[in-house]
Amino acid sequence: MNRPVRIAWHKRASAAAAREPAAWLEGGWQHSDAAPDVLRRILTATDPAEVEAIRMAAEKTLLEHCGDTVRLRGLIEFSNRCVLDCHYCGIRRGNRAVKRYSLTLDDVVACARWCADKGYGSLVLQSGERRDAAFVRRVEAMIRAIKEATRSEAQPDGLGITLCVGEQAPESYARWFAAGAHRYLLRIESSSPELFARLHPENQWFETRVACLKVLREIGYQVGTGVMIGLPGQTVDHLVDDLLFFRDLDVDMLGMGPYLPHAQAVLPGEIPGAQERLRLGLRMIAAARLLLRDVNIAATTALQALADDGREQGLRFGANVIMPQVTPPRVRAMYTLYDGKPCLDDTAEQCAVCLENRIASVGRKTAKNQWGDSVKFARR
Ligand code: SAM
Repeated sequence: MNRPVRIAWHKRASAAAAREPAAWLEGGWQHSDAAPDVLRRILTATDPAEVEAIRMAAEKTLLEHCGDTVRLRGLIEFSNRCVLDCHYCGIRRGNRAVKRYSLTLDDVVACARWCADKGYGSLVLQSGERRDAAFVRRVEAMIRAIKEATRSEAQPDGLGITLCVGEQAPESYARWFAAGAHRYLLRIESSSPELFARLHPENQWFETRVACLKVLREIGYQVGTGVMIGLPGQTVDHLVDDLLFFRDLDVDMLGMGPYLPHAQAVLPGEIPGAQERLRLGLRMIAAARLLLRDVNIAATTALQALADDGREQGLRFGANVIMPQVTPPRVRAMYTLYDGKPCLDDTAEQCAVCLENRIASVGRKTAKNQWGDSVKFARR
């Protein structure tokens, strides 16, 4: 007879807690010895009221430090040719089943013009990894051509350009920066050197990636990094360390997302179920927002691969960047990093309308014709 009464009381207490951000998240824990414990508590929270209180605290922090506008970056996946063999990746060199493509300069400029006309403000140029001279020249030519083609009254400096083309020589990074790119996203994938080694062949080193991130910062880029979440062998302690790594590297931007298997990838081991990876992905966004406060954080497509409203949930948990797909649909399926990539057939126009609606559905608006740099970077 007592049991239902106790449950009802517990429910009322939980519902009351969920109306306010969690008090234990207040105060200056971010740079104190308490940070690992607070982050662990965020990542392992299961009580719905506690998760909601964490979400509310992350959203409040976002609104206070970055405002309520969602920054858009049109995503152009300009080539799937890759010299690397990352065990987790669908376009790794060893996957002979992938048909390889490279967009022409005209294709890329046309995508960029489309973004500018739409008022996107910024774009991301992403590709598989190549370091040969022709590739370096091509990326430089793309940056210059995009800048030239997208200057307008609304955007006198042309579109903002984020590069995501992997580990490169410092001279290449410098050349592209001089050409007009000003943000660079290079995920560390895992801040644990041991886990990094399990994810990559022997010729890819954790230390090289860290060195690249430091060079990018010295050159003057806004620097972004990130990890995959729910990898085989990854523990909550790894994720806590990832967050502390972002803090200590003083990053400007984050792009993190759930790990999603690919049929032709070669990464063995058990992974958490889809719902748990989604939950972890959202809690990582909230934890990063609460820890770092004024950085840009992307709600990545990988979240949407696990739930139709995954990206909207990412925004609600503290993300403020969305990368609408603008890669021409005819090549999009060839850039399949993981199985179940969403929006494969939608045109850029359909993606634009769909995302506007999704962003509005969580009470946020988009910034038009703005680069949308991270507040953290602007404060440097
Ligand atoms: N080659 C560049 C680099 O490594 O930065 C850019 C392209 S790479 C394909 C972009 C990102 O895709 C990687 O940093 C990785 O985190 C993510 N990725 C690759 N395979 C994935 C998978 N199976 N699940 C989730 N994310 C994946």
